[in-house]
Amino acid sequence: MTDSLVDLDATREGLKICDEALQNYPKNKDFISYKNGFEATYAMVSLVAKQQNPPALHLFLTLDMGVISMQNYPWIPKDMLERSSDVFKACNDDLARRSDVLEIKRSGLGDYGMFAKRDIQRGDKILSRQCPINISSKQTRLPVEEAECFNCCQPLRVASAACAIECCPNVFYCSTACQLIAKAYYHEALHGKDFSQMYKASYGAKGRDHSPEFTKLVFLRILATCVQGGVHPLKNPLFAGLLPATGRAIWSLVGNVIGPNKILEDFGIDIFANADYDAWILNQLW
Ligand SMILES: [Zn+2]
Ligand SMILES: [Zn+2]
Repeated sequence: MTDSLVDLDATREGLKICDEALQNYPKNKDFISYKNGFEATYAMVSLVAKQQNPPALHLFLTLDMGVISMQNYPWIPKDMLERSSDVFKACNDDLARRSDVLEIKRSGLGDYGMFAKRDIQRGDKILSRQCPINISSKQTRLPVEEAECFNCCQPLRVASAACAIECCPNVFYCSTACQLIAKAYYHEALHGKDFSQMYKASYGAKGRDHSPEFTKLVFLRILATCVQGGVHPLKNPLFAGLLPATGRAIWSLVGNVIGPNKILEDFGIDIFANADYDAWILNQLW
């Protein structure tokens, strides 16, 4: 694992892991050597970065976070690369709830495309946004007037009908419409569990939306939606219609590995036995 942290430029977390390991095995030569390596790298990167006098966020990303090059997992089963007719139908059913005129069809240009299923008239609903994956660290803030809708992130002080779902009185929504989206996608998976500490930790965390604490919140919503959806995460219509992320992305052990796996355990998933939530799947979802 320490080798991976070196490869992922996660120097700060590498140091932390070595410190933890050395508390238990103070004479272990490997950990001493890794720790020295991480310290030297950190000192060098820190020196170079600070010479450029960068903004605080840039410094945080350089010094505190790792970087990952996202690639499609090369052994993805064929049925997850090609969208099955069931996934295709589920995506179109979902789209039909959000649009009067659009449909997804196979495209002559390759793969799939979005098409008008009839001529569009003035007043037709082209596409409404009902995405259940809107996250803000203010979503469970108290007092309620300072919080944002748990579903759409609208500040509750400007919402005329803010209220909670009866069974979860501490989580507020701006409207019945947002409550319905929550019930349809993720409320059942989150119900009865208290994740307010995670939101508190994210609020004001160093690096804000780029912090490991915020990454965990995004995973919390994604995984709740997958677990409640009941199908394989990559066949969930909400995610099956998306292309996996590629290119470089910020990464942390706490946000991208420990956090989501802990959340899955809180949802009752045996992460060692249930291959549906394997590490490569978490990466594809991200
Ligand atoms: Zn809302
Ligand atoms: Zn509830």
